[in-house]
Amino acid sequence: MAELNPKIPSGRLTDKWLDYKSHINLVNPANKRKLDIIVVGTGLAGASAAASLGELGFNVKVFCYQDSPRRAHSIAAQGGINAAKNYQNDGDSIYRLFYDTIKGGDYRSREANVYRLAEVSNNIIDQCVAQGVPFARDYGGLLDNRSFGGALVSRTFFARGQTGQQLLLGAYGALSRQIHKGSVTMYNRHEMQELVMIDGKARGIIARNLITGELERHFGHAVVLATGGYGNVFFLSTNAMGSNTSAIWKAYKKGACFANPCFTQIHPTCIPVHGESQSKLTLMSESLRNDGRIWVPKNKNDAEQIRKKQLNPNDIPEENRDYYLERRYPAYGNLVPRDVASRAAKERCDAGYGVGETGFAVYLDFKESIQRLGKNVIEERYGNLFQMYEKIVDENPYANPMMIYPAVHYTMGGLWVDYELMSNITGLFVIGEANFSDHGANRLGASALMQGLADGYFVLPYSIQNYLANEIHTPRLSTDLSEFVEAENDVKSHLEKLLNIRGSHTVDHFHKELGKAMWEHVGMGRTASGLKQGIEKIIKIREAFLNDVKIPGELNAINTELEKAGRVADFLELGELLAKDALHRNESCGGHFREEYQTPEGEALRNDDDFMYTAAWEYQGKGKEPLLNKEPLIYENIEVKQRNYK
Ligand SMILES: Cc1cc2nc3c(=O)[nH]c(=O)nc-3n(C[C@H](O)[C@H](O)[C@H](O)COP(=O)(O)OP(=O)(O)OC[C@H]3O[C@@H](n4cnc5c(N)ncnc54)[C@H](O)[C@@H]3O)c2cc1C
Repeated sequence: MAELNPKIPSGRLTDKWLDYKSHINLVNPANKRKLDIIVVGTGLAGASAAASLGELGFNVKVFCYQDSPRRAHSIAAQGGINAAKNYQNDGDSIYRLFYDTIKGGDYRSREANVYRLAEVSNNIIDQCVAQGVPFARDYGGLLDNRSFGGALVSRTFFARGQTGQQLLLGAYGALSRQIHKGSVTMYNRHEMQELVMIDGKARGIIARNLITGELERHFGHAVVLATGGYGNVFFLSTNAMGSNTSAIWKAYKKGACFANPCFTQIHPTCIPVHGESQSKLTLMSESLRNDGRIWVPKNKNDAEQIRKKQLNPNDIPEENRDYYLERRYPAYGNLVPRDVASRAAKERCDAGYGVGETGFAVYLDFKESIQRLGKNVIEERYGNLFQMYEKIVDENPYANPMMIYPAVHYTMGGLWVDYELMSNITGLFVIGEANFSDHGANRLGASALMQGLADGYFVLPYSIQNYLANEIHTPRLSTDLSEFVEAENDVKSHLEKLLNIRGSHTVDHFHKELGKAMWEHVGMGRTASGLKQGIEKIIKIREAFLNDVKIPGELNAINTELEKAGRVADFLELGELLAKDALHRNESCGGHFREEYQTPEGEALRNDDDFMYTAAWEYQGKGKEPLLNKEPLIYENIEVKQRNYK
């Protein structure tokens, strides 16, 4: 059994982080220079961490597989970033952000971590403004806010529909400064292939130079994984095409526990799937739900006529429209959390009220807000999103309502970490979307950027020192040590094995098959029997992949198919664990909806008596069942109740 000590500091919730910071061990400046830290990932979490650690004086090596840190998936983030500034004077506070996040996550996250997140949220905005991030401002020049799901206040800071890009440029600027100063060494186009452990501690990585194909050994006194989420296990998702699970999966196979793998977020406002050849789904930001109203026809007959293109949505009078979120959840209306909005859309479409050619779409309509505010205001707020929609769908969303449907978007699961963001492998830290912390079973909109930057700018730079203070006597270890050599040999033989299959189907073929099985059996609605079928299918697809995948090209050269194959091989293993986790959790909570467990109104029905824990799965070896460890969740500051957005 793994030892899962969450290391939550004692004392009052409001004092924990301050007390922790005041009492931890620190590393003096002369010793910092002698300590190497490997950071894998240059998204918002990795870039902010590497820049901050470099600025502190550590010797940092940072890796990404793209040609530039600026291409990390974080750049795609559209809608905004939360903070409890209460600039709108609408009743926000650190406690309220903490409360909304715990409730939004359906009471499956750790109180102390979430409170800290809410606490440092305000520092993030100050930090980013100081970096020059061009957040939207109101007429008087003050920072503006909008609303996101699961909150009754406006606490989301934004830069039009490209908040991630602007934040990443800020973090990239800070990172570049450290690269220039020499405290950070950047390794673009390098992919981590394996974690190296020495005497039970994380001590380095094996990385593949994606240009030359060469395998490299890198030592670090500590290793930080900031490698993002694994939503692409579903093949079709809103994630960047390269987003993958490999780094955290390798760490899992070295003993790091994988927490709540089944907690996947399905985002309600994506452009619907339109064909078999599609390889990407496009998000329409949640911010659109501030001004857009979601509806389907009240009459099945109208829906059918729309599907057959015999009726235009604009011809349906108000009284024949079902604004089902406003009807079902009058308090939060169109701004209910994502899991709730997604299920409600699926329910209407399954019942025959869906629109679009496939019947799997609902409307997001701006007619009323354009009338109320004027087209120019809507254009100012969401212009780039409307343009993106028009380019993809070839319809003008100012004139016709947008069509949207839920799609896989984010993974709340990830490697288990304690309060210090260290996994159960000593010296291995995990930050950003790659870890499981903070969001429970459902993440609120605009909270991922907040968490990634909180981890990178404000939490890890402290907590990693508490570990490294005891490492000052550890010299830089030679990468000729047997542990490095063995790890490199393992990677080499794995890649050679994949290349030598020389089968007849492409990597994408198997990835698509996996995605279909995942969506059908492990998607928005899960049942015990469906999950069992899904697991069988995933195993078969994996076997077929290992016998029949065709990877052209060589090992020692650029080989993007080999890169993909390595990632898909890991997805094929993760998919099974994800389904097993979903099968064991006999309850519905947040994004995990087991159809057997629902209230008469179709809401998620938790089972707090039996499942009020984080499920942390431990690898037991090839072909063996993973072991389930449980971290109980204790709520001392929040009353646990059935979520209610009515
Ligand atoms: C379309 C879209 C819009 C979104 N909008 C918002 C929003 O408005 N607000 C919000 O809060 N959240 C939003 N999110 C979620 C948010 O963007 C992500 O959760 C967040 O950016 C993840 O940041 P990260 O730093 O953890 O990882 P990423 O940005 O995914 O970065 C991962 C990094 O790891 C590197 N990497 C991965 N594996 C390896 C490896 N094996 N070796 C070397 N390097 C590796 C990659 O090169 C990359 O640099 C959105 C997500 C999507 C998909």
